[in-house]
Amino acid sequence: MLTAIVGTNWGDEGKGRMVDLLGCDYDIIVRYQGGNNAGHTVINERGEFVLNLLPSGILRHNTVNVLGTGMIIDIAHLWGEIEKLSAAGIEITPKNLKISEKACICMPYHVALDGLEEDRLGKSAQGSTRRGIAPAYADKYLRKSVRIGDLLDFGTLPGKLEPIVSRVNVTMKGYGAAPVEIADTLAWLEDYGTKLAPFIANCEDYLNDAIKSGKNVMFEAQLGTLRDIDFGIYPYTTSSTALAAFAPIGAGVPGARLDNVIGIMKAYSSSVGGGPFTVEMSGTEAEELRAAGGEYGAATGRPRRVGAFDAVASRFGAKMQGADAIALTKLDVLYYLDKIPVCTAYDIGGERITDFPVGDKLEAATPVYEYLPGFGVSSIDELTSCRKFSELPENAQKYVLFIEKQVGVPIKYVSIGAEREQIIVR
Ligand code: GDP
Repeated sequence: MLTAIVGTNWGDEGKGRMVDLLGCDYDIIVRYQGGNNAGHTVINERGEFVLNLLPSGILRHNTVNVLGTGMIIDIAHLWGEIEKLSAAGIEITPKNLKISEKACICMPYHVALDGLEEDRLGKSAQGSTRRGIAPAYADKYLRKSVRIGDLLDFGTLPGKLEPIVSRVNVTMKGYGAAPVEIADTLAWLEDYGTKLAPFIANCEDYLNDAIKSGKNVMFEAQLGTLRDIDFGIYPYTTSSTALAAFAPIGAGVPGARLDNVIGIMKAYSSSVGGGPFTVEMSGTEAEELRAAGGEYGAATGRPRRVGAFDAVASRFGAKMQGADAIALTKLDVLYYLDKIPVCTAYDIGGERITDFPVGDKLEAATPVYEYLPGFGVSSIDELTSCRKFSELPENAQKYVLFIEKQVGVPIKYVSIGAEREQIIVR
C-alpha cells in the first residue's frame, strides 16, 4: 500500500500528527520535497518532538525513514536533529534512516542569501523562513549544487565547489556582503559529510525493491497545496512541489501509483508567511484563536496568521491533491466559540465566487461567511475525550458534516487533540 499524507491548505495542518498516528501500518516513511523550512510537532508516549527534516516515522521502532531526492537538505540542521533525538533516547542508525545520494545540499551561503534577499526587499519581503530553501532550489535548477552523494568523495569537492562558489560570490558582491570562503565551505561539508556518510544511500533502488516486495510506504509532504510552487499562491509559495502526485518522483519511484491520498485539513485556517489570506482575523478574535490552537510556527516560532475555515481554498486544496479522504484536525480548538464562522464563498468586486481565484483577483477577495452554532460545551474535555463520531456534541458533528459537504471529500478522521489516541475514525 502506497499512501501520501499531504496538506490541503497553507501548511501546518497537523500532518506530522497524522503520519505518527497512521505510521504503524507502514514499513517505510519518505519525505519527498522541501527542507527544514517547516516542521512537524509530534507528541506521543516518548515525548514531544519538533521535526524539521526527519520523517516522523523516526519515532517508531521498525520504521525505515527516507529523505528523498526531491528534498533540499541542510546537513548541519539534519545532524542537529539526529543529535537531539539521540539524546532523547531515539535510536537512529543507517538501518532506520536513509538519505538520498541525489538530494541537493542547502549550504550556509544559501541561508545567507535567503536573509540578504528578504532584507533587501524590506517591507515587501516574501515571508521566507530564511532557511535557504529558495536559493538552494534555484541553484539545483541552475545545476550548481553540491549533492549528498558528493560527500562520499571529498577529493573531488574542491573542483566541484570552485565554479559554484565563484558564482555565489558574484551575487554576494551585489548585496555588498562578504565573499564566501571555499575553505570554510569545504570544512563544513567535510565535518557533516563525515558524520552523515553512513546514512547516504541509493534510495530509489532501496524503495523500488521494497515496493516490489510488498512493503507499505507512506509519503510525507511538507506544507500544503496553497504553498505549492505551481498551484499555490505564487509568489508566496514554497520552492518545491507540495502535491501528492510528486511523491513518487521526489522519492525516487516515479512509476509507482499511490493507493491513497489523505489530505490533512484544519478545522479553521492558519498560515505562516506572506501572501493573501482571505479569512484572516485580527485583534482579540485572532489572539483568542491563536492561543487556543497554539498557532506558532514549529520551525520558526513565528505567530501564525489565523482565520475561519475557508471552504473555497480547502475545496481547491483537496482537489489539487487528489485527496481520497480528509483528516480534519484541531476540532477541539473551536470549543470556546458561541458561533463559528465558515467562509463558503469570496466576494470579488460584488461578484460571489466559489472557485479559488489567482493573483490580483485573490488579493481583492473578501470572505462571505456562514455561521454555525458553537459546540455548546463547558470544557474542552467534552471534545478531547470523544472516541466515536456519535460521542461528539451534536453541533460538532454538524460542523464536520457541513465542512465535508463544502469540500466534497469524505472526512475519514477527526482529530480532537494532539495525542495519539485523540482521534475519531469514521
Ligand atoms: P504539520 O506541519 O502539518 O505537521 O503541523 P504542525 O506540527 O506545525 O502543527 C500541528 C500542531 O497541532 C502540533 O503542535 C500538534 O501537536 C497539534 N495538533 C495536531 N492535531 C491536533 C488536534 O486535533 N488538536 C489539538 N489541540 N492539537 C493538535
